[in-house]
Amino acid sequence: MRDTAGGPRVLLRRLRELMAEALEPQERLDRIVREIAQNMVAEVCSLYVLRADSVLELYATEGLNPSSVHLAQLRLGQGLVGSIAASARPLNLSDAQKHPAFAYLPETGEEIYHSFLGVPVLRAGRTLGVLVVQNRTMRHYREDELEALETVAMVIAEMIATGDLARLTRPGIELDLSRPVSLKGLPFNEGVGLGHVVLHEPRIVVTALFNEDSDVELERLETALDSLRLSIDDMLSRRDVAFEGEHRAVLEAYRMFANDRGWVRRLQEAINNGLTAEAAVEKVQSDMRARMLHMTDPYLRERMSDFDDLANRLLRQLMGRGPEALAEILPKDAIVVARSMGAAELLDYPRHKLRGLVLEEGAPTSHIVIVARAIGLPTVGQVKGVVSMSENGDAIIVDGEDGQVHLRPQADVEAAYAEKVRFRARRQKHYQELRDRPAETKDRVHVDLMMNAGLAVDLPQLAQSGAVGIGLFRTELQFMVAAAFPRVEAQERLYREVLDAAGDKPVTFRTIDIGGDKVLPYFKGAQQEENPALGWRAVRLTLDRPGLLRTQIRALLKAAGGRELRMMLPMVTEVGEVRQARDIIDREVRHLSRFAHHLPTRLKLGAMVEVPALLWQLEELMQAVDFVSVGSNDLFQFVTATDRGNTRIADRFDPLSVPFLRLLRQIVRAGAAWGTPVTLCGELAGRPISAMALLGIGYRSISMAPAAIGPVKAMLCELQLAELTKVMDEALANHSASTDIRALLRQFADAHDVPL
Ligand code: PEP
Ligand code: MG
Repeated sequence: MRDTAGGPRVLLRRLRELMAEALEPQERLDRIVREIAQNMVAEVCSLYVLRADSVLELYATEGLNPSSVHLAQLRLGQGLVGSIAASARPLNLSDAQKHPAFAYLPETGEEIYHSFLGVPVLRAGRTLGVLVVQNRTMRHYREDELEALETVAMVIAEMIATGDLARLTRPGIELDLSRPVSLKGLPFNEGVGLGHVVLHEPRIVVTALFNEDSDVELERLETALDSLRLSIDDMLSRRDVAFEGEHRAVLEAYRMFANDRGWVRRLQEAINNGLTAEAAVEKVQSDMRARMLHMTDPYLRERMSDFDDLANRLLRQLMGRGPEALAEILPKDAIVVARSMGAAELLDYPRHKLRGLVLEEGAPTSHIVIVARAIGLPTVGQVKGVVSMSENGDAIIVDGEDGQVHLRPQADVEAAYAEKVRFRARRQKHYQELRDRPAETKDRVHVDLMMNAGLAVDLPQLAQSGAVGIGLFRTELQFMVAAAFPRVEAQERLYREVLDAAGDKPVTFRTIDIGGDKVLPYFKGAQQEENPALGWRAVRLTLDRPGLLRTQIRALLKAAGGRELRMMLPMVTEVGEVRQARDIIDREVRHLSRFAHHLPTRLKLGAMVEVPALLWQLEELMQAVDFVSVGSNDLFQFVTATDRGNTRIADRFDPLSVPFLRLLRQIVRAGAAWGTPVTLCGELAGRPISAMALLGIGYRSISMAPAAIGPVKAMLCELQLAELTKVMDEALANHSASTDIRALLRQFADAHDVPL
């Protein structure tokens, strides 16, 4: 171990002392660069800090002209220092002046120094500055010297991030860390949220940077690595992963990385240089992230992100950290920022503290987004880079109307948004006034506007939104938020609560729709499929596990004693599945009546149209069920072969297109022909423009997120439906399938003053 006088360990020890001393920030910095210069036997050591205006300013130097401090400046990308900051990579040169990027700053007097070693000051992959050492002689710095300088740079990054250096900035100038940034994503759920960043799975904050004893830390690292490897091996040997497929490939890659000698060596080196095991992981991770940001090859980026996840796991191992008690650490106006997350994870957050959601990934019909919509959370998705640019506690604005996210907004932006929030409140008031008006078009056609729900928290919205019923109750949400299968009593309790809250309004319970992207962590078997969307899910799964379906049906029958019970089956592919389910229901009814249970007064069974195969069985289907509900999210996914959760193709095809609308019309017409009510409960129902299209092709009953009812009702109250129907009929009869239906609808709305 290199623990000689003047080695990196001694340097870190000295830095620790300097950090603890009561010094003014400038003096502390001056002493730090002096220590580094001495320790590394360099004539010069300088620190440049990146400002919000993309200028690197000399903050401290040992060796260069002292009067150039805070005066010498380089733009990002300019000179050697600017190149290091822009590329986030170190530069090690024996003759710096020969380098093509060299830029001479006369005020510094650096012309006499030839060799140059500069490293970026990085934090969570972001460059905050550049640290440089220089010598007169033309020497080449050794690998361990580079490591040592990078380690010191990490300590300085902490000083910048904790605001230590902010006090040295001149008024009007800010460091890059506090720079306001506006990012564009896609609007996933309406609404505007003002609040503070909560990073989902926040980067673990490493507070103990310096180690007391490298050997102890090396041992801790080894133990943590061992358990990490074991846990990966464990995952790999599980039966459900033991076939080829993407999951396995990813896990294999993890295993490879966990045993990657280069990675482990760099971790060990950082510890040998005086860091704790945690700080070492963070340092190596930060270097990786910085490199990742500059990588364009998607395959390599993906691999790097595996390393990133692995480092997070390793940090958790080291810190023995379980998921934190969320409620306690959450600000009262939390805006959750995540790369992606599961629907259940969002529900772990206390609703009353949430103001918005920002995702780097996600698609409008992915379940996390549906849940966000159900709880009325302003949501913006596909915001690239937002996680690495955010710090916990940063002020943030989420604009779910135009898909903007403003991080650390300036006062005028904040004021403009506060105004926008007030405007929205006025509009909300207008919707409330509409609430008790019947949902009727201008030409007096009545439409049933119903709401989608899934949890007890949704129930107050039934009265608030003015919905005439619950058109889709997603019963699987109760299963998704639970730690184990909810018992029959718990199911019955929820269903009873729902029916009590609904009073006279009808409620349609969908039997559990798990599988696909709705994974229950405690339910083994359905999770590791190569094509989960096409796999063992929804009614396929419940018919194979009749115990599950029977339990749920029993709970529903009991909860609905003395009133009407409406149930529907998700993902029906063949009419025979409806018959099978009906048999199970009948058997349960007989069973309960044998024990003299109070039974529902009426029982209605429906099927969701989500699988295209049903389109060729519409006649049989309409006769086999009491009602039909179109699940346009899944139907569109299967009709266009477009994964509803895949961000790359989320916008590629438009459901408001001739072929898809023709198909939706075919379903509603079949319903009319057989006297079977048809409704539609996918996300299409919830946007005024697509709701308008649905009315235009014959739908008279739609179900949507509660917050959408106001805007949809405002639209339909101004609608001359007969005229629109004519326009739609013509458009769909036209044999040019490329007609821009969306534009046509907009034109119609403009011409007739229909608010969209
Ligand atoms: C649908 O697929 O349109 C639907 C309503 O069901 P879910 O979104 O829950 O899959
Ligand atoms: Mg569905």
